Amino acid sequence: MSDRKVVEMKNVSFKYEKEWVVEDVNFSIQEGQFLGLVGPNGSGKSTLVKLLLGLVKPDKGTVQVFGKPIRQFSRWEEIGYVSQKSNSFNSGFPASVLEVVKSGLVSRLGVFRFFKREHTQKALDALKIVEMEAYANSNIGELSGGQQQRVFIARALVSDPSLLILDEPTVGVDAKHVTDFYDLLGRLNRESGITLLMITHDIGTITEHATHVACMNKTIHFHGDTDEYEEFNDQDLNDLYGHKVHQLSHNHGEVTP
Ligand code: ADP
Ligand code: MG
Repeated sequence: MSDRKVVEMKNVSFKYEKEWVVEDVNFSIQEGQFLGLVGPNGSGKSTLVKLLLGLVKPDKGTVQVFGKPIRQFSRWEEIGYVSQKSNSFNSGFPASVLEVVKSGLVSRLGVFRFFKREHTQKALDALKIVEMEAYANSNIGELSGGQQQRVFIARALVSDPSLLILDEPTVGVDAKHVTDFYDLLGRLNRESGITLLMITHDIGTITEHATHVACMNKTIHFHGDTDEYEEFNDQDLNDLYGHKVHQLSHNHGEVTP
């Protein structure tokens, strides 16, 4: 893990309307980290991601990606993004898996404008990483939620990003495939060296996979490595969520009631 900051937010506040949705956030991700971002519904997690992607602009503070102020940043192919609820194509959606993955090569600046033969190869390589190459010619809508999610990850990986951002990627993936899914993310992080930011509701199991955890409710209430997170106790989490939650601990096998 290096000291290079892939993402850095300083004193960032943002509101859509009157109320602050993100408030005085100071936050950074170092190259090589697998950061799990947790927090209650409506706590500003997806908005934080939109700020990182330059989709909304902060009212206060600064956002840097790969060491550059976001206004000056142009290498968007360095960032793969799987949005919340992206795995919701219905069975009639007229696109093959290969086409969906190739669409990841249409960057904001149109750097990869045409679907050349090497683009097909890149798309097949990305499908191989997520173990979905056998489905290249299937219709995207015919796949299960978990399979579709893998295809969306392939689409995000097709431009060889160094940062992959996933917004609640396990929603819609059935429980028995969630472990496989995390294993895939772990491999991308450790073996391919991709920095990961994953928003998740799995406040307990995240420590088995992520290297670092941040807890957010408008502002960042905790940010540390997984050992420090295990010391950030149930009471702190209850305060963060504003109601009783139970941190599922893989050490003791406790289960959320
Ligand atoms: P989270 O991802 O943690 O559930 P969001 O970032 O989606 O939270 O939302 C934070 C708050 O901002 C919520 O109160 C939500 O209703 C509000 N919000 C989100 N998107 C918009 C929008 N486009 N316009 C107005 N309010 C929004
Ligand atoms: Mg969200």
